[in-house]
Amino acid sequence: MTLRAGVVAVQGDVAEHAAAIERAAAAHDRTIDVKEIRTAGTVPDCDVLALPGGESTTISRLLRDEGIAAEIEAHVAAGKPLFATCAGLIVAATDAGDDRVDELGLIDVTVERNAFGRQADSFEAPLDVQGLTDDAPFPAVFIRAPAIDDASSAAVDVLATWDGRPVAVRDGPVVGTAFHPELTTDSRIHGLAFFENDDAVLPAAAAE
Ligand code: GLN
Repeated sequence: MTLRAGVVAVQGDVAEHAAAIERAAAAHDRTIDVKEIRTAGTVPDCDVLALPGGESTTISRLLRDEGIAAEIEAHVAAGKPLFATCAGLIVAATDAGDDRVDELGLIDVTVERNAFGRQADSFEAPLDVQGLTDDAPFPAVFIRAPAIDDASSAAVDVLATWDGRPVAVRDGPVVGTAFHPELTTDSRIHGLAFFENDDAVLPAAAAE
């Protein structure tokens, strides 16, 4: 069956996420229909969700105001995959370390916004990411990126670190990265988040 993906489109790299999801689905022999989410009502129809970057304070407020936040919480409570990148990770965290962010509490970590300093506002780093289909480093693009301060929760697996700090994590059906995998042509982390997570629920492919 054709899967339905939603990309939360209040801010961020929406088209890039959609393209990465399509590439990852093709690599996993799945067909997928990608929708942009701007209002409540679409998330309940989605099998997988992406929450892009942007400005976490703004994103979290708009998600609450539009009624999308509660739908994302229900999506994850049902065990369906969510992939949150950069500001999306901050919004999805339990503690954003900033009172202006109204967290969703879906990844049991504490984060620090803009953790890599002004000199290094934006940089690319080759990361070893656990669970990828091959060992090649992932070309991770960091843009005013957060770092994870506390990933000690038993629910959380650290998938990658940079400069000694966790920058990619998994909490059950939710994967979060401090960087932007949608800005490269490498869709392995989208594949990991949506198609290779044994702790997430995905409709089976139709029998051949
Ligand atoms: N610095 C932003 C924040 O704290 C995140 C940046 C991004 O998503 N690229 O919300």
